[in-house]
Amino acid sequence: MQTHPAELNNQVHTCRICIGGEWKASQGKAEILHNPSTGEPITEVPYCTAEEVTAAVEVAHAAFPTWRAVPVPQRVRVLFRYRELLEQHFEELAAQVTEEHGKTLEEARGSVRRGIEAVEFACGIPTLLMGEAVESVGGGVDSVTLRQPLGVCVGIPPFNFPAMVPLWMFPLAIACGNTFVLKPSEKVPRTGTRMVELFHEAGLPPGVLNLVHGAKDTVDVLLRDPRVKAVSFVGSSGVAKYVYETAAANGKRVQALGGAKNHLVVMSDSDMKAAANAIIGSAFGCAGERCLATSVVLAVGDAADRLLPELTAAADAVRVGAGSNPRSDMGPVISAAHRERVLQYIELGVKEGAQVVRDGRGVQPHDASKGFYVGPTIFDRVTSEMRIAREEIFGPVLSIIRATDLREALDVIGRSLYGNATAIFTSSGAAAREFATAVPAGMVGINVGVPAPAPFFPFAGWRGSFYGDLHAHGKDAVQFYTETKVIISRWGNP
Ligand code: NAD
Repeated sequence: MQTHPAELNNQVHTCRICIGGEWKASQGKAEILHNPSTGEPITEVPYCTAEEVTAAVEVAHAAFPTWRAVPVPQRVRVLFRYRELLEQHFEELAAQVTEEHGKTLEEARGSVRRGIEAVEFACGIPTLLMGEAVESVGGGVDSVTLRQPLGVCVGIPPFNFPAMVPLWMFPLAIACGNTFVLKPSEKVPRTGTRMVELFHEAGLPPGVLNLVHGAKDTVDVLLRDPRVKAVSFVGSSGVAKYVYETAAANGKRVQALGGAKNHLVVMSDSDMKAAANAIIGSAFGCAGERCLATSVVLAVGDAADRLLPELTAAADAVRVGAGSNPRSDMGPVISAAHRERVLQYIELGVKEGAQVVRDGRGVQPHDASKGFYVGPTIFDRVTSEMRIAREEIFGPVLSIIRATDLREALDVIGRSLYGNATAIFTSSGAAAREFATAVPAGMVGINVGVPAPAPFFPFAGWRGSFYGDLHAHGKDAVQFYTETKVIISRWGNP
């Protein structure tokens, strides 16, 4: 019999863990988290003990033989019920994302919708699991491939998408017949916790999906346990590399999605108003805390002088305030410490000699909310050597580099350590094609500011933005969560 955690609407909610369908308090030390929009304490998140993390892996390991034997159509029925529950709780989940992350309700709704789309993709698993067959590969010999689940998989998501990124991971892994241990980001643990509750409500058997909390220490236990077969990680590049190396050294397969520094090229033949609106949405949406956020504009030829008036006008119209206020266009960043880090980068940009066009340091939220706010910040005449142009800031700070031509813009992108998303705005098909063919990044927008792949395509970061072979999302992820088996059979005596 499962027990359920207390209602979410306590003043400070203590997150529980779920092991084998049992909800309980962790014995680990706890930390208080604050609502980024108001600065008020809202959550107590535990850091699990090594024993608790090991117990979660143990029950997931024990549940695997039974779950993998459940016929695929029955597994999918649980997924369909889960999808319905997520839909029923759509507004609750979006509000939860806004409360613990700070992004606006509209942005939170969009992210929950994207997460539900990933569950819908997982509902197609009977077709996605189909193998291949060739008859008569020899005299009376036929050959088929099967895709079989791996065992215990783990998910380690970042803070910036509390619903969407975990939903990339566990629904598909479980649909494939694996069991799972989820460790939500310790900065936003409540949305993930609620989504685990809902999966159990949908009828998922105990032990198939388990939940632990914590940070590096919790992750390290998961990376070293020999019963864990696959690790899905999304976060900053340094940690992605560490997770990739450590998990691989312990014999696991890994998909580790890292950080980003995304460039958007504006050619001089662009519709500048459309480009400016797309840049503002991409650079300042979610307060710049998106791995697909544009953080460097490469303005080609005379584009900068015509783009800037549109850009500043659109930036000035951005209303900064509490994520839960429907009049806000941009919420706070995640924490006081992160706000400090972003402010330091703005100071660095000034010291490096970039020209401050808009300065978000003294922003006054339109609704007088007291949280961790930084306003839209724009630097012009940035050079590709400056640290503000090279390092991931993960806040609402946009740099403009002026480039002579497309080749120079491509050269700047080519020297970046990252290769997540990039985009071009142009009215030239030839320029768009040249850019898409040559650019060394995995997700490319053409007149699209945030090139986010739908869940049936891979989320395809390159270079320092990804460590691994098979990406999250789409058929790559089905391959990642399964092992291929080839069966060669002969019946009779030919
Ligand atoms: P983070 O790297 O600090 O944390 C990510 C996860 O790793 C968390 O669950 C955290 O508990 C765990 N972790 C942190 N330090 C660890 C360590 N030393 N060892 C083991 N585990 C550790 O990232 P974040 O600040 O939560 O998220 C923001 C980052 O995520 C940004 O760099 C952003 O670009 C990136 N991101 C990338 C994508 C993508 O698709 N490539 C998507 C979203 C976010």
